[in-house]
Amino acid sequence: MAEKGIVLGAGESGVGTAILAKRQGFEVFVSDRNALSQIAKTTLQEHAIGWEENQHDFEQMKGAQWAMKSPGIPNDAPIVTQLEAHNIPIVSELEFAAQYTDALLIGITGSNGKTTTTLLTHHILKNAGLKVGLAGNIGTSFARQVSEEQFDVYVLEISSFQLDHIRAFVPHIAAITNITPDHLDRYNNDFSQYIKAKLKIASAQKTTDFLVYNADDKLLVQNIEAASLKSTLHPFGLEAITTKRKTTHNDNQIVITTEKTKTMIPTNSLALQGRHNLLNAMAAATIADLLQISKSVIRESLSTFQGVPHRLEPVLKIQKKQFINDSKATNVNAAFFALESMEAPTVWIAGGVDKGNAYEELLPLVHEKVKAIVCLGVNNEKLFEAFEGVVDIIIETQSMEEAVKIAAKIAQPQENVLLSPACASFDLFENYEDRGNQFKTAIRNL
Ligand code: ADP
Repeated sequence: MAEKGIVLGAGESGVGTAILAKRQGFEVFVSDRNALSQIAKTTLQEHAIGWEENQHDFEQMKGAQWAMKSPGIPNDAPIVTQLEAHNIPIVSELEFAAQYTDALLIGITGSNGKTTTTLLTHHILKNAGLKVGLAGNIGTSFARQVSEEQFDVYVLEISSFQLDHIRAFVPHIAAITNITPDHLDRYNNDFSQYIKAKLKIASAQKTTDFLVYNADDKLLVQNIEAASLKSTLHPFGLEAITTKRKTTHNDNQIVITTEKTKTMIPTNSLALQGRHNLLNAMAAATIADLLQISKSVIRESLSTFQGVPHRLEPVLKIQKKQFINDSKATNVNAAFFALESMEAPTVWIAGGVDKGNAYEELLPLVHEKVKAIVCLGVNNEKLFEAFEGVVDIIIETQSMEEAVKIAAKIAQPQENVLLSPACASFDLFENYEDRGNQFKTAIRNL
């Protein structure tokens, strides 16, 4: 009789896992506490996979060898506890799928910069002619691609939730862009639990595997040092680094030093602007260099990368006022880097669902760069409290249209209007993409 596997959650990673598991000969059952989308139903039916919706019927799950939990389901959800109580191990999609591919795996995690660094790395490897897949927290699930594609390398964007149930998953190259407080609600408001989850990306690595990490992030460095990992460490950063192996930035060049080689990549034609994007480029270039991709391909790719929508995305210039969409800045650290990269006086549109934000670290930047704040959230009290003494103009608005109209009036020619909310979007918008798209529409309607 076929071994049985359970898939909790019928989103992209759940459906992908179900398809792969079925192909590997498991009897699979998909269970979702909410309704399934039509596309999920059709796909599961096409693969003759059983499913239920709007409930978790534990009777159906008895005798399973494993249960894959979608990253969106909290670790303490009753069904998860129940499965664990019956000794049914919870596995993650990444770990499950990794067993069925020989491809070389690159895993990228961090609080901010995951998507940008992942796409940039993918862009370089693709330009180098590798057969490379892009998966993880982005696009088509890793499991589905392992089932349906034949890639030699995968670049995986990995969120901390996807790392929660990792035991044996080993990326040959892991990268951590930075660690700042985010999603603490899912980690009992305990920052150290969140950091531990992120470091799991390297926990099963061997000395022949690499951990590329941001050495400017002192908290990250401390935690890596304390974690006694086996990985070969490769720090990158703009500040001085004392180890032999490292990636630094000197005289407009990314300098990648290993025990045996030194590669220098000019940065005068980088496509992406801002200090944070230089760090992302350093991480991606290091990964490519470790895979022995040529310097010319890396340089060329860093200058042709198109950028990612909703991340410091230049939208339009109207009457010489530059509008910039950074809707993906859902935490304070991301907004910090956005503000830091502004080179002209800026009208800053901010606010939304506050995740326990501490705004103090933004005060000097706001003082230096921001001429007015346009608050766009249901509750803007905290923004007022934090910035009243620092900027002359703070205005509340209730819709994107209104926010853009007001910001466009306040901004003068040669100045910026920046949407970089530092908050989640769920009060007025469906998600950050909806927020960014409404921003762009409102600009086009000015
Ligand atoms: P993630 O996938 O980790 O959310 P993104 O690449 O989507 O990261 O970027 C999210 C937000 O963070 C954007 O506002 C972007 O401008 C900003 N950002 C990108 N890279 C970094 C970085 N290395 N450090 C801080 N902020 C960054």
